Amino acid sequence: MHETCMRLRDTGYDFEIEKTINAIKEGGHRRLLVQLPEGVKSFSRDLAECLRRETGARATIFADPTWGACDIPVDEAARLGATLILHYGHTEYSLQPQPLRLPPGVSVLYIPLKSTHRIPQETLETLYSLLEKKSLRRPVLTATVQHLDELPRIVEYLERRGMEPIVARAPGSLPGQVIGCDYRTGAPSEGHDSVVIVAGGVFHPLGLALSTDKPVFQVDPYRLVVEDLGPLREKWLRKRYAAIYKALDARVWGVWLGSMTGQYRRALADAIERLIEQRGGEWVEFYSRTVTPRELRAVDTPRIDAHVVTSCPRVPTDDFTLEEYPKPVLSPGEALMVLKRELQRYRFMW
Ligand code: SF4
Repeated sequence: MHETCMRLRDTGYDFEIEKTINAIKEGGHRRLLVQLPEGVKSFSRDLAECLRRETGARATIFADPTWGACDIPVDEAARLGATLILHYGHTEYSLQPQPLRLPPGVSVLYIPLKSTHRIPQETLETLYSLLEKKSLRRPVLTATVQHLDELPRIVEYLERRGMEPIVARAPGSLPGQVIGCDYRTGAPSEGHDSVVIVAGGVFHPLGLALSTDKPVFQVDPYRLVVEDLGPLREKWLRKRYAAIYKALDARVWGVWLGSMTGQYRRALADAIERLIEQRGGEWVEFYSRTVTPRELRAVDTPRIDAHVVTSCPRVPTDDFTLEEYPKPVLSPGEALMVLKRELQRYRFMW
């Protein structure tokens, strides 16, 4: 195998090179569009060269920011004449609002980039001690797709220590899998007393912590630490409730629709617009690929009181606290809390 392919084996991620090469050869693909998450874009050059050497196919790297599997560049693939989109870092989007419409002859191959880091026994012991200290014995275990393969090991370890861990399923997701806007596997109907997430960084752990009122613990496979996310949850809930309460007086709303393949949630926007009207309010609709303070400021006026973003529900919760933007910018779930005056239980995203 070419040296560039060999180099990809030392990255800490499984690029599934053989599987990809076979898929390219079997499909007779000559042009590829490659989509990589931000953190691994620096491997683009080796990946493109590896695929060209091994299959003869030409790869174009999609250099715009890649959000998730909600963002598949189907139009760009058609324009470039690419017949295969290689989407790295995610599995198929579990909350796709309408079927992904691909141009004739174009297909998508999802390569989740599973981590090759293994969680050492000592970290599992720390997790056990933390749960034990709080008398928690039935944790539900979740992970981002990169670390899902660790779950059977953790289940086995905790069972050996007398606990009853659970790995839950949700339609469209792998067992235990969470993504930025889908934490259904962290909230199964069967009785559990806590939630554990195996993930690096803060994005997924924060999302999980905000989506449940059970104690949440993060096992970080990179820093090899286990953290109780209770304080993080409290801090963010304070920020979010500040925006929610401010929106109670809103009469005119900006309703944002997303243009990415998995972010066009027409039915959701319609439902929110109807609720605004039922409360005697008005709305103006915006359609964009992304929503940043810059885009929002460009269209905002003093005659709009609050905004709701239906595209990616993490945009308002993570990027638009009142410290960052002076008006309430809410997720769909938060807007529903306001419009239905159901403020008691925090409704994170939907
Ligand atoms: S959290 Fe946002 S970016 Fe991530 S999959 Fe969901 S909609 Fe897409």
